[in-house]
Amino acid sequence: MSWFTRKEKGIHTPTELKKETPDGLWYKCPSCKKVMHTREHKTNAYTCIHCNYHEKIGSAEYYELLFDKNQFTELDANMSSSDPLHFVDTKPYTGRIVATQKKTNLKDAVRSAYGPVNGYDLVISCMDFDFIGGSMGSVVGEKIARAIDYSITHKIPFLMISRSGGARMMEAGFSLMQMAKTSAKLALLAEAKIPYISLLTDPTTGGVTASYAMLGDFNIAEPGALIGFAGPRVIRETIGKDLPKDFQSAEFVLEHGFLDFIVDRKELKTKIATLVGMLK
Ligand SMILES: [Zn+2]
Repeated sequence: MSWFTRKEKGIHTPTELKKETPDGLWYKCPSCKKVMHTREHKTNAYTCIHCNYHEKIGSAEYYELLFDKNQFTELDANMSSSDPLHFVDTKPYTGRIVATQKKTNLKDAVRSAYGPVNGYDLVISCMDFDFIGGSMGSVVGEKIARAIDYSITHKIPFLMISRSGGARMMEAGFSLMQMAKTSAKLALLAEAKIPYISLLTDPTTGGVTASYAMLGDFNIAEPGALIGFAGPRVIRETIGKDLPKDFQSAEFVLEHGFLDFIVDRKELKTKIATLVGMLK
């Protein structure tokens, strides 16, 4: 007989409460399974103190890590998606947007902001994977395009932090157009000779890899990040062959010439600032 039995039926805990680990508790690394204090994990830039596993984090954490004293001004903070195709899968797209906004406290899968990084002004667009898998819909594309416009107008370097499964299914063709739009804006940024650094984090796949994530003057990645276009299963089934070990890891992609370097998150701020300083 078990010690505890759940007598009441129908007890539901909202997802955001399940995931929330209050400060002062413990964090268990999903990679090495070892335990550390959440505060220690946070001061270590959300990387494991034992095996250096880089936990998936969102824009709020990256902004806090990068902007001096967490000082930044957000751009287009209230832009929200419409539903041009009246898309319905398991639930209507509009309902999904509202529910996700409520759950994540985000408006869409990317946030843009400008502020100082070790004294250098920088525009940073950062994706949030918690918002429908960091999928690229029209809001994501538009916010990135406008962030680039801000970079061009004010002559400030641009940093893109990608974490995405690719295009947003519910916006179909409208999602795909964002690839062309963001790429065209980046061409204007290059023409204006303003540096663009692209940071690829775990995972960066699909249409995001096929557009802005791979168009940096510097394409850099976090250790162990999954980077690819199609997933390994799809490729295996298409070519009918087994894939090499660590296929689509940041390290593999670096070795095959698609990345400039891999950066440990604990050194991210210093490296970005050094790079921006050199390019100035
Ligand atoms: Zn670990």
